[in-house]
Amino acid sequence: MLLGCIADDLTGATDLALMLTREGLRTVQTNGLPQDDLDLRDVDALVVALKSRTIPAADAIGQSLAAAEKLIAAGARRFFFKYCSTFDSTDHGNIGPVAEALLQRLDAAFTIACPAFPATGRSIYMGQLFVNGVPLAESSMRDHPLTPMRDSDLRRVLRRQTKGEVGHVAFADVEKGAATIKDAFARERSAGRAIAIVDALTDAHLRQIGKACVDLKLVTGGSGIAIGLPAAYQEAGLIRHLTPPPRTITAPRGRAAVLAGSCSTATREQVQKAIEAGLPAFRIDPMAVADGSLTADTVFRWIERQEATSIPMVYSSDAPKNVQAVQERLGRDHAGHVVEKLLAEVARKLTGQGFTRLIVAGGETSGAVVNGLGVKALSIGPEIDPGVPWTRSRSSLDVALALKSGNFGAPDFFLKAWSSLQ
Ligand code: ADP
Repeated sequence: MLLGCIADDLTGATDLALMLTREGLRTVQTNGLPQDDLDLRDVDALVVALKSRTIPAADAIGQSLAAAEKLIAAGARRFFFKYCSTFDSTDHGNIGPVAEALLQRLDAAFTIACPAFPATGRSIYMGQLFVNGVPLAESSMRDHPLTPMRDSDLRRVLRRQTKGEVGHVAFADVEKGAATIKDAFARERSAGRAIAIVDALTDAHLRQIGKACVDLKLVTGGSGIAIGLPAAYQEAGLIRHLTPPPRTITAPRGRAAVLAGSCSTATREQVQKAIEAGLPAFRIDPMAVADGSLTADTVFRWIERQEATSIPMVYSSDAPKNVQAVQERLGRDHAGHVVEKLLAEVARKLTGQGFTRLIVAGGETSGAVVNGLGVKALSIGPEIDPGVPWTRSRSSLDVALALKSGNFGAPDFFLKAWSSLQ
């Protein structure tokens, strides 16, 4: 095992694992710290998914260092700290504090911070992060409920979180390619700047940066920056060969279902398309769940009444004004919690009754379902749509899971995803 990765949330971890797989590393993802008995033969990269994006910085450091210990014990020689491509964090952390703690633990003098992901519209120019051409602080991230991003200059954002100075490798150096970028790293390091923001506007830039990072023990960034690492590691002889990504994945025999707890625009459209295509659909009313009149048993009895060949869909996805009304009555956290808990219970019942193929829509929802099923590790299969692969559990419960971040996937995602399963 070469590359040990620590991701600050679950669907972000899957996104990174998919990128590494696509670029030729055999990758496994764990939900939380890896178990000691995890089989890592034939694995090049291990991605540990934490839930540390918005917890207090001291806790994020503690969890990330615990993950680093496991990765070191598993034989990792290179490390990756993955966060969101919109640099989701507050002035209190957690990107800077975790990066500094990892540098210290790994006895490394320098790393980069590069959340650029051109394929999804995230680029960095002169240290400023743009989201689909709009400066970060003017994008919808400005009003994010947990991590409002009010400054587009990542050097300033990061500096408010770190103990040390923050450096910068600008576009002009990046454009000249790996050798110049490497020189720029040396320049920043000798000026006493342990972390440098690196400009990147294209995948070609990311690949050159990847090459320049080959000797860095720690790289930090979004999943975009991982695009150049596998080839660079292979060229440097750190791994013997790259492995072509799987085109299909074998799923255990059994029935399929969709569980959607995301209210994002893309998911709502996918739910609508699935209903129009005739998938039997059960709508969860959070108020009924909260007052106890709707339980996982009710949902499961409905599923049992559907044709054995059908793909039932259970969804709570709803329009913003309805979600808001529910949140006003139940409180945001409680509303989220009751729905997540119900969907996790439904997932448990389904897997107990011969369902082996599940699509789960929503980041938090996916976390709740994966925890509910007790799935600790996942193998990464083929990409269904950008950022969303099929995965297969590596635990006593054998299931194929597609964990979809709310806004990912084409409108026909719930209909077409099944075709890449064998
Ligand atoms: P996304 O990836 O789209 O952000 P998440 O699953 O991360 O989706 O978050 C959606 C949150 O909204 C979850 O906590 C979920 O339980 C909650 N939720 C789902 N449906 C409703 C609803 N109808 N009303 C209120 N909250 C809901």
